[in-house]
Amino acid sequence: MNNVNRRDFLKLSGSTLIGLTIGGVALRANAAEKVSMDDPTVIALKYVHESKIEGKNCANCLYVNGGEGNDWRPCKLFGGKLVAAKGWCSAWQPMA
Ligand code: SF4
Repeated sequence: MNNVNRRDFLKLSGSTLIGLTIGGVALRANAAEKVSMDDPTVIALKYVHESKIEGKNCANCLYVNGGEGNDWRPCKLFGGKLVAAKGWCSAWQPMA
């Protein structure tokens, strides 16, 4: 009985590890993609790579998701695609 449980546990652990690995690769591939200027969300939110508003940019926006210190950072509103740290869009909100 113990052998069966241990075998089942190992099978489940192996499947979980494979799932996490594939999921992680997919997320990294997504996160590495920069936003396209013809993306409908980019157009709708009037995103620009260079903010024209003093003190408001993607680097200090509530929706930027990590990537501190990088020129390109993932944005939650663009599905994790990268936006310019100096960029801006009309959804900008100050970090809490
Ligand atoms: S919501 Fe707009 S301003 Fe904020 S990080 Fe994303 S693209 Fe930049």
